[in-house]
Amino acid sequence: MISKIPTNLPPHLNIKFIKNYLNSGDLKRARQLFDKISEPDIQLWTLLITAYTRQGHPKEAIKLYAEFRNRGKVNPDKLALLSVAKACATSGDVFKAKEIHDDAIKYGFGSDLLLGNAMIDMYGKCKYIEGAKIVFDDLRVKDVISWTSLCSCYVNCGLLRDALWAIRAMCQSGTRPNAMTLSTILPACSVLKSLNLGREVHGFGIKNCMEDNMFVNSALVDMYASCSSIKQAEQVFHNMPLRDMVSWNVMISAYFSNGKCEDALNMFDRMINRGVKLNYDSWNAIICGFMDNGQTQQALEIFSRMQQFGFKPNQITITSVLPACTHLESLRGGKEIHSYIIRHLFYEDLTATTALIFVYAKCGELELSHRVFSMMPKKDTVAWNTIIIANAMHGRGEEALFNFNEMVSSGIKPNSVTFTGVLSGCSHSRLVDESLSIFHSMSKYHNIEPDVEHYSCMVDVLSRGGRLMEAYQFIQDMPIEPSAGAWGALLGACRIYKHVDLGRIAASHLFKVEPNNPGNYVLLSNILVTAKLWGEASEIRKLMRDRGIKKVPGCSWIQVKDRMHTFVVGDKKNDQSDEIYKFLNEMRKKMKLAGYLPDTEFVLQDLDAEDQEDSLCNHSEKLAVAFGILNLNGESSIRVFKNLRICGDCHNTIKFIAKIVGVQIIVRDSLRFHHFKDGLCSCKDFW
Ligand code: ZN
Ligand code: ZN
Repeated sequence: MISKIPTNLPPHLNIKFIKNYLNSGDLKRARQLFDKISEPDIQLWTLLITAYTRQGHPKEAIKLYAEFRNRGKVNPDKLALLSVAKACATSGDVFKAKEIHDDAIKYGFGSDLLLGNAMIDMYGKCKYIEGAKIVFDDLRVKDVISWTSLCSCYVNCGLLRDALWAIRAMCQSGTRPNAMTLSTILPACSVLKSLNLGREVHGFGIKNCMEDNMFVNSALVDMYASCSSIKQAEQVFHNMPLRDMVSWNVMISAYFSNGKCEDALNMFDRMINRGVKLNYDSWNAIICGFMDNGQTQQALEIFSRMQQFGFKPNQITITSVLPACTHLESLRGGKEIHSYIIRHLFYEDLTATTALIFVYAKCGELELSHRVFSMMPKKDTVAWNTIIIANAMHGRGEEALFNFNEMVSSGIKPNSVTFTGVLSGCSHSRLVDESLSIFHSMSKYHNIEPDVEHYSCMVDVLSRGGRLMEAYQFIQDMPIEPSAGAWGALLGACRIYKHVDLGRIAASHLFKVEPNNPGNYVLLSNILVTAKLWGEASEIRKLMRDRGIKKVPGCSWIQVKDRMHTFVVGDKKNDQSDEIYKFLNEMRKKMKLAGYLPDTEFVLQDLDAEDQEDSLCNHSEKLAVAFGILNLNGESSIRVFKNLRICGDCHNTIKFIAKIVGVQIIVRDSLRFHHFKDGLCSCKDFW
């Protein structure tokens, strides 16, 4: 090992030392020496650029190339361009990619096959199909790599049909696909469930002697499984002369995706009996498979078997098996997992523990999140961020704020995510002045420039706090372009505070920024209806229709005994529909007796003729809550999820139900969690 950097060496020795350093992976020393050379030649530049890319510093490589270009003494050659094109591919930087492409054309390599192929790959990784097509078309000679790279670019950009088209064009042009091409195109067939083309590719592979290729075969198994042809998937698998871990795992997932859990388990046992070396993917594939098929008990059994085999569950395992723990009462093994995590992970794995906090919060188990967090012996920025966000999600602004102050005073540096978390927590709890001072402290004390998220959070804080004019002024004073989030926050608050003029202004901006979001039209129309401006409201509805924007239908779901039950408005498909409506009618009667008035404002949400059946009693969230109550089975709480915001009347009704029935009802809507208990909601009627 060379310990000191030699100084004042003759140039040829300099180069020798740099090469030595690069060979031993010591990029830092190589760079120090490189910087001492006044005019490095192009080979040396290229060498260093390549080394940066290889060692995972593509941005540094791109910077180096820029420096080289700025000196302007020598023109880039093909090798230099090749190495920086790889750097752009790795970093996915499309702007730099275009610059490299321009340079290639400028210095006469525009139709060079080797460089062209590298640039198609580069644009593919940047997901910029237009660029790839230009390079491709400029190539005078195209080989199998050019076609395959183009194909894979289409796949990367999600343009699967074009990828299939490219394969056909390739064959027509007389270029023969190779194994690489086949494994690029098969995933596209899987996603599109294009069995015919998949078969064609398969046949082509056999004709061209690729039936022994492991990658092609694994991709074929996956393709057949995605097209529900499990028999053919099996056949390919059984005929494989060689299998690796990936092929086994693909076959197991294939069984699961076709609902054949037993076959998957048999295959897994065969794998073990044959002495195939299992890896994390195998264990996780089988645990996920059982969870996806609703077989939590089986998943838990595999979970404990995994540990008998000496595998410590990792983050993916924990995250996939955790939903089984959210119904601790109803599952025998649930508590075991929970205690397993507590026994084994706390002191070792910060990432898994943090994932646990987040998953618990997402499942509505905020108390468990807190318990896990408080037991962590060491907390890093991500852990603090997670508990802050967890509190914010549940509308516990004060606690989010408390955590934030604790974090700062314990010496952990907040980052940009921390501030988004604490500000959004504050907005739900109307802590306006606290938010303002945190926002101003960002650049002043924490050296973090607020970004568009933070600005949107502040607009939300001010809007929800009822300081609408201030919020509007804040948007106008923003040094960056206000996002849809900022205008959306203002518009949402205009509904709550019944501010028609500002509502119109906010909506007019939103119609420009995100013209296809139905929520904005509905919100403005609701504001207008509340203000009894019927004509203008129906104009907005018409505008929405004319632009062909469809309202997203509201939908709620609830898990009862390992099964997910979904409800839409006016749903009568459930086996217990009669009981559900009876229950809701009784509740409504009791509510009237108790002096509740139905919030008719929300009946008017849907004035369209097609929505007329949409009356108050049958909103999806009410149906799901009623269903949950009817199937309580001794539990003290139910959890309902909704894809849109909860409506005001449902909010009132659920508060009432929680009080009358004496249970805790947790509803997660598109924005936040509502915890209903004893006739009150954690959001304090503000959402
Ligand atoms: Zn409702
Ligand atoms: Zn609420």
